[in-house]
Amino acid sequence: MGLFTKEIETMDDLFVHMLRDVYYCEQLLTKALPKLIDKATDPELRAGLKNHLEQTENHVERLDRVFDMQGLRPGGVDCPAIDGIIKEANEVAGEVADKNVLDAAIIASGQAAEHYEIARYGTLIAWANELGLDDIAGVLAETLEEEKEADRLLTAVAETRVNRVAA
Ligand code: FE
Ligand code: ZN
Ligand code: FE
Repeated sequence: MGLFTKEIETMDDLFVHMLRDVYYCEQLLTKALPKLIDKATDPELRAGLKNHLEQTENHVERLDRVFDMQGLRPGGVDCPAIDGIIKEANEVAGEVADKNVLDAAIIASGQAAEHYEIARYGTLIAWANELGLDDIAGVLAETLEEEKEADRLLTAVAETRVNRVAA
């Protein structure tokens, strides 16, 4: 990098930067999800979160593969957005006494994280397609589908039971 050049110059640079952003998110979520699972009570919610924890570990591995396909070493960059979502999740969970209300709060936090990931992967896939990285777009699309599936499951658990029990 020259004296007057910024770190992100091209669309390829921006793409790699966002790959590193989402890599950081996925790694952080593998650490945050077990804490939410511990606090959740509803059996279907717990099972869904556990399943998504396994998927999330696989998302890290998929990103490892994407870095490899780009000839890059895997690594993350700080993502203040997901830091904030997780910090808020832990703060709110710490303030809810009632177990049923806590489940509703956990679902809300989980959906905030999933929607962030869905936004990021959607952008990454669009950029990969534009940059001619069709194979990478395909790998990222597998993860995007699992994020959407996790979001749908959280909606279903909330609307069929948890919200009613909590209210
Ligand atoms: Fe993920
Ligand atoms: Zn981010
Ligand atoms: Fe996720």
